[in-house]
Amino acid sequence: MNARKCLQGPATAPRRQRVAPPFGDRPQDRLLPISDEAIALLIDVLRRPKSSRYEVVSSSRPDTNYELTVDGQDVVCSCPGFEYRGKCSHAGKLASALASGGDLPRGMKLLG
Ligand SMILES: [Zn+2]
Repeated sequence: MNARKCLQGPATAPRRQRVAPPFGDRPQDRLLPISDEAIALLIDVLRRPKSSRYEVVSSSRPDTNYELTVDGQDVVCSCPGFEYRGKCSHAGKLASALASGGDLPRGMKLLG
C-alpha cells in the first residue's frame, strides 16, 4: 500500500456521480401549453411594421376624420376625446381588433 492510495480512501467508498435530472423534472422544462393559434397570432404581431396609421370618420361629425397611430402596443388618436382623456373609443376598438386579429372596426381604414 502506498501513500497515494491512502489519500483516496478505502476502495469500497461509494463513487459520487453528477447526474442531470431527467427532462421534465427541471423548473425550466415545465412550460405552459401554447396553442398553435397563439403562436400564429404572436408571429403576426411581431411581423407588423413598428408604426402604422389608421383613419376613422368621426361619428358625431361625418365630415371630420381622425388619425390613429399604432406604435407597438400604444394607440394614439387625434380626436378631442383622446387629447382630453388620453383614451377614446377609436383607440380602444382598434387596440382590441389588432390584439384579437379580427377585422378593423367599422369606418376605420389603414393608411400605412
Ligand atoms: Zn379617438
